[in-house]
Amino acid sequence: MGRSFQIGRIAGIKILIHWTFLLLLGFIVFSEMRKGSDTTAIVANIGFVLALFLCVMLHELGHSLAAKRYGIATKHITLLPIGGVASLERIPEDPKQELWVALAGPLVNVVIALLLLPFVGFTGSFFAQSTGNLASTQGFLYSLFRVNVILVLFNAIPAFPMDGGRVLRALLAMQLGRIRATNIASALGRIIAVGFVFFGLFTNPFLVLIGIFVYFGAQSENVVVQQIDLLKNYTVRDAMMTNFVTLTPADTVKDAADKLLSGSDQDLIVIDNDRAIGVMTRLLIIDSLRGNGRTTAVVDVMNRDFATVQISDRLTDVYVNAQQKPGAFYPVLEKNQFRGVIDLTNINEFVAIRASLSQ
Ligand code: ZN
Repeated sequence: MGRSFQIGRIAGIKILIHWTFLLLLGFIVFSEMRKGSDTTAIVANIGFVLALFLCVMLHELGHSLAAKRYGIATKHITLLPIGGVASLERIPEDPKQELWVALAGPLVNVVIALLLLPFVGFTGSFFAQSTGNLASTQGFLYSLFRVNVILVLFNAIPAFPMDGGRVLRALLAMQLGRIRATNIASALGRIIAVGFVFFGLFTNPFLVLIGIFVYFGAQSENVVVQQIDLLKNYTVRDAMMTNFVTLTPADTVKDAADKLLSGSDQDLIVIDNDRAIGVMTRLLIIDSLRGNGRTTAVVDVMNRDFATVQISDRLTDVYVNAQQKPGAFYPVLEKNQFRGVIDLTNINEFVAIRASLSQ
């Protein structure tokens, strides 16, 4: 997705802004200048977009703070031209919790709209009126009020994984269980997403982008939920690799490079008396070779700070954790003794086999 910049930190959550957001601001200045607008109008337009994204950020913060109540941290909030994304550490599995986390975002916009209501002189011609004159305080506040109401209405559309879709999934999950609920919500989400794309082609390019986002989001979240279901009765022992290349503390970087070339393993574990004491990643081996370290012992350069899993750990937990870290690779331990390795590719293969067996 490209680069994002941190613009601040609220309640311990990093607030990031995607670089394309600057493109949006540039586009506004450009199109206003083409219309022949004066400086005041341009400044008012930019000010309005910034105020709008402040509301979007508060919306995302609503999701984050609701999640925090259930012990779920937020890694960061990212602001994109098409809206905001709060990257929660995980989605709550309890439907009641998911319901509240999903509702908390739009509720923030309801509160903002109610706070603005006394200032906007509501005329009842909500949909007829255009954005009005942003350079006047009245016009600015009215437009901000209007856009918060639109955010609430838009998020009420049950297009999973948008907020309305999450509410739908949570409600369905209470009756049908999470697996079937996700299947239904995801199918509906994809249908609506296609609608967004078609409707957006004739009206608003941002809607096309949102449609694409929703379509793939609905698809991938469904896959994850269905896969987790396939894994639920298994432990690390069932899926780990037991056939792999290891290193001893006496091996040199040159030995590690030879072993790397002779097999398909990307990460090699250094074993000392049945204990995993370090990891030599492919990158580390190549870097050490470049640094003239051919004869250096692997114990001097290996990574000693690595995550491990227990052989009896639930496979679903390892799968969820591994998905958050690209290239995750875990030595498997049993009573501190090294027994095997497991990574995401490995689990995905296990899922594929289980899926074909269960058909
Ligand atoms: Zn939301």
